[in-house]
Amino acid sequence: MRYLVLSDIHSNLAALEAVLAEAGEVDQVWCLGDLVGYGPDPNECVERIRELPHICVAGNHDWGVLGKLDLSDFNAYARQACLWNRQRLTEENREYLDNLDEYIVEGDFTLVHGSPRYPIWEYVMSPGVAWRSLASFDTPYCFVGHTHVPVIFAARDDFCDTCPLLEGQPLQLGQERLIINPGGVGQPRDGDPRAACLILDPDKGTIEHHRVEYPIEVTQKKMEEAGLPRQLIDRLDHGW
Ligand code: ZN
Repeated sequence: MRYLVLSDIHSNLAALEAVLAEAGEVDQVWCLGDLVGYGPDPNECVERIRELPHICVAGNHDWGVLGKLDLSDFNAYARQACLWNRQRLTEENREYLDNLDEYIVEGDFTLVHGSPRYPIWEYVMSPGVAWRSLASFDTPYCFVGHTHVPVIFAARDDFCDTCPLLEGQPLQLGQERLIINPGGVGQPRDGDPRAACLILDPDKGTIEHHRVEYPIEVTQKKMEEAGLPRQLIDRLDHGW
């Protein structure tokens, strides 16, 4: 079996298509939320995921676009993009996002957007937060998104280690509990503008991180035409 694990598409269809092409045939897509917000293609991205065999959890931008979160918690650029996305989302896609769970358990894996403690909002950015999150899931492994930064936190006896998620190097899942972030598809924030994802082979117990170039200028042009904030357009060039 091969699963494509991805997060934070953020209405960036060009990035999503590049990741799907790189992954090739997969049995299922596991999506860690934030399908919409920031970018110019909310309906296209939701519909592209919906047509694939997949499971998906809700993210804070999904809830922001739906109006399930107070947009005053977003920064001004994110808020403007959320409102733009909200105006364009079809009723059917709205309903799809509205029905997403916050927390999914699938075999040995827990899937959330933010953290297993606070699935919509909490960022797992540090070993300390990772350590405090371990009690909030029962499976050996937990996939998170939200930070748009690929990383693994590995549970040791009384702390968590931060381990890089290296491109193209399959990693064997073992005894230790892990919190794994595949990075972001539509707005990477680790200084690498390429879209990020990972391939999980649950039979072999391996994950492999991929980075994929995509035509950033295609997304940027659509954002310009939509009048989305310049800062959101420019940051795609830099991957932050
Ligand atoms: Zn996000």
